[in-house]
Amino acid sequence: MDYLNKLTDYLNILLRFVETTYHTLLRYIETTYHQAMTMTVSEFVISHEAAIRLMFFFGILLVMALWELAAPRRLLTVPKALRWINNFGIVFLDSFLVRTIFPAAAVGMAAFAQEHGWGIFNHFQVSYSLAVALSVVVMDFVIYLQHVIFHAIPVFWRIHRMHHADLDFDVTTGIRFHPLEIILSMLIKFAVIVVIGPPVLGVIIFEVLLNATSMFNHGNIRTLRSLDRVLRWIVVTPEMHRVHHSTVYYETNSNFGFNLPLWDRFLGTYRDQPRMGHEGMTIGLWNFRDTKRCATLPGMLAIPFIGKVAGYTIDHRK
Ligand SMILES: [Zn+2]
Ligand SMILES: [Zn+2]
Repeated sequence: MDYLNKLTDYLNILLRFVETTYHTLLRYIETTYHQAMTMTVSEFVISHEAAIRLMFFFGILLVMALWELAAPRRLLTVPKALRWINNFGIVFLDSFLVRTIFPAAAVGMAAFAQEHGWGIFNHFQVSYSLAVALSVVVMDFVIYLQHVIFHAIPVFWRIHRMHHADLDFDVTTGIRFHPLEIILSMLIKFAVIVVIGPPVLGVIIFEVLLNATSMFNHGNIRTLRSLDRVLRWIVVTPEMHRVHHSTVYYETNSNFGFNLPLWDRFLGTYRDQPRMGHEGMTIGLWNFRDTKRCATLPGMLAIPFIGKVAGYTIDHRK
């Protein structure tokens, strides 16, 4: 009897919890729907920025993770659990650091620039939608240039090579960047925002898009060759970006784009396929092959500070 009473109590508590969660969720959906009906798209996106970011992050992550399970492109060489735990560890650390050092982040900077009339789009009369679209394209070009610079300047390559030291290539590689690279990227983004003065909506679209395409183009997924041929004119595909993660020097220094493929195509850094084929190529860096170094949090964090800058920087001469 006593046992039954206890069980009823637990069930009651559980039911009350489910009921409260259900009502809170319902209320949230109702208010969000009401706001969506009364606001413009731009106002809605800006006021729900955090929820939109999280929704895209977890949504794309889930789709890619399932796709990788259903149709993997390559066999993984390191236990997946080990890589995923440590790659997510880096993501958590990066998010924590960025939120602590730059609480308002890029969006805050864009709002600040707007208030003070800083930057091209805040100074000249440009239509709002054109300013949003151009901001996204310009910021994507800057990210491309930044990526080239991170390969060209030895001290920056030390930091960026942590991304390349991943011994496998999958959705979590796309979000695995050294905290120093994340901080430097944010400072570069601030500088660009001050110069171009993008609308806040442009910055949000750009950041959500970059996060989503980075997870997509690092996917260990099989795609139809014919589909990839067409798609890689519009967006950087996994078949295109995988070349960039080859251990071969001239393949690592190609396909720098994260989002739009046109920068690589027009600026001469495009490489169609890896020489050894997607299944025969080796992923990572030839001078970082130790699992402890490349797939555990302390090892990964130390990568910029150990060893020589060997073999990969663009100024490298054999
Ligand atoms: Zn790179
Ligand atoms: Zn990459």
